[in-house]
Amino acid sequence: MRVEHWTNAVEQGEAAARSLVLGPDDLTPYAPAPYFWSDQYDVKIQYCGRARPDDEIRVVHGSVTERDFVAVFVREDRLVGALAFNCGREFASFQRLIALRPSLDEAMAAIPA
Ligand SMILES: Cc1cc2nc3c(=O)[nH]c(=O)nc-3n(C[C@H](O)[C@H](O)[C@H](O)COP(=O)(O)OP(=O)(O)OC[C@H]3O[C@@H](n4cnc5c(N)ncnc54)[C@H](O)[C@@H]3O)c2cc1C
Repeated sequence: MRVEHWTNAVEQGEAAARSLVLGPDDLTPYAPAPYFWSDQYDVKIQYCGRARPDDEIRVVHGSVTERDFVAVFVREDRLVGALAFNCGREFASFQRLIALRPSLDEAMAAIPA
């Protein structure tokens, strides 16, 4: 899968080097949750996961009209992605969870209020 973002370029290089050094007996799958950020004028956009167009989208923090929010993507009750505008701190909590694919209830319970 091609993931054309800075973070993946760094993580993939680290994973390739690790595999090269450790050898074939000590391989771990390379399966991070894809992540990118982009600064667009006054908005910092952050996204992680692998959402599909038919996933359910829920705003879980802030306000879309204020351009200050976190939205999550949910598929079959599992958290598969998160998108934030100008909410780095709140986004980080969801980003840590995405790779674990928790249910939305589990994710909300694990997020600091
Ligand atoms: C306009 C634009 C905006 C972007 N914005 C974002 C963003 O906001 N957030 C984000 O996460 N990602 C963004 N990206 C994507 C991100 O820049 C790339 O995914 C990332 O740079 C890929 O890193 P890389 O090291 O794999 O490749 P590159 O950064 O392309 O590095 C490859 C290097 O290899 C060199 N090279 C190529 N061929 C040879 C050769 N034969 N011999 C020697 N050297 C060679 C090239 O000159 C280059 O320096 C953006 C990309 C573009 C084009």
